[in-house]
Amino acid sequence: MTEKIERLKTLIIGSGPAGYTAAIYAARADLKPVLYTGMEPGGQLTTTTEVDNFPGYPEGIDGPTMMVQLQQQAERFGTEVRIGMATAVEFSDEVGGIHKITIDDSKVIEAETVIISTGATAKYLGIPSEQKLRGGGVSACAVCDGFFYKGQDVAIVGAGDTAAEEASYLANICKKVTMLVRKDHMRASKAMQHRVESLDNIEIRYNTEVDTVLGDQVVEGLRMVNNVTGEKEDISITGLFIAIGHKPNTDIFKGQLEMDETGYIVTKGKSTKTSKPGVFASGDVQDKEYRQAITAAGTGCMAALDAERYLATVESAEEVS
Ligand SMILES: Cc1cc2nc3c(=O)[nH]c(=O)nc-3n(C[C@H](O)[C@H](O)[C@H](O)COP(=O)(O)OP(=O)(O)OC[C@H]3O[C@@H](n4cnc5c(N)ncnc54)[C@H](O)[C@@H]3O)c2cc1C
Repeated sequence: MTEKIERLKTLIIGSGPAGYTAAIYAARADLKPVLYTGMEPGGQLTTTTEVDNFPGYPEGIDGPTMMVQLQQQAERFGTEVRIGMATAVEFSDEVGGIHKITIDDSKVIEAETVIISTGATAKYLGIPSEQKLRGGGVSACAVCDGFFYKGQDVAIVGAGDTAAEEASYLANICKKVTMLVRKDHMRASKAMQHRVESLDNIEIRYNTEVDTVLGDQVVEGLRMVNNVTGEKEDISITGLFIAIGHKPNTDIFKGQLEMDETGYIVTKGKSTKTSKPGVFASGDVQDKEYRQAITAAGTGCMAALDAERYLATVESAEEVS
């Protein structure tokens, strides 16, 4: 059932580092942004305890606190932060056209510009022992959390390019990396496979899966199972990295925006422009390469600047005509 329609200059969808940074810039440019938080207010960083690599926090900061601070900074300049999900969109093809966004299947918003910052969701195995120890040694981001396991033994699950890249990254920091590959071969490119195979402290276990992550409060070991022989083996590790992929949160934009084969929104050149005028994308939803808070924040800034410039162009065209 549709409620009353509201008209906005700038609507921001998503409350991770990209969305809040876009909000800070858009609010300071007087675009009077409204930001919808979605189902995970604060985004992915609210699922981690320690963020050590975001510039400006010399002692590090816990993820949820950092995201509250970003929200406060966005609100300080007038961003209106609302709890709610974008559930449907109808983007205009016209320059200067109005985009329609449905919130929580009820309220319709008309926006001159839309900044999509809906992020991506890391995939996990879904087994109980893994879920119990998320944040206690189980991580979906080697670049983010690898440093905490310096000089220690860890394991990584996955067989694609990202898993191979993350295994190499961990091998530089950790004493030993055990890589669990479900099939009898890797999906990663030949070049990445060679890289992994050439590193002395990576042991690749083919046909091997996680049976149980061992430990009560923190990871203490891993029970692996060979899926051909059924044989189980325990190893001692302090960190387990899951590198089986991410799913971009783009379902509601399908058919509306150009996406790549894995569902990430395609942006044009170095900008945050999407295939529809006045619709911009920032953060992990358009970036499967870097996936860091600082890069998400950087593109959030770009999206707000792109939106501001787009509105200025539309307004000056209206004045001329
Ligand atoms: C366990 C873990 C630890 C990490 N640690 C670090 C670290 O230490 N340092 C670092 O730089 N990076 C880290 N990262 C990566 C970092 O969290 C991401 O790169 C970053 O959060 C991406 O920001 P984003 O704004 O693009 O999206 P996200 O943080 O993914 O936020 C997406 C937002 O969109 C909202 N949303 C989704 N769909 C809708 C919808 N339909 N309507 C409205 N809202 C919607 C969600 O509610 C959420 O608020 C970590 C990631 C994980 C999983």
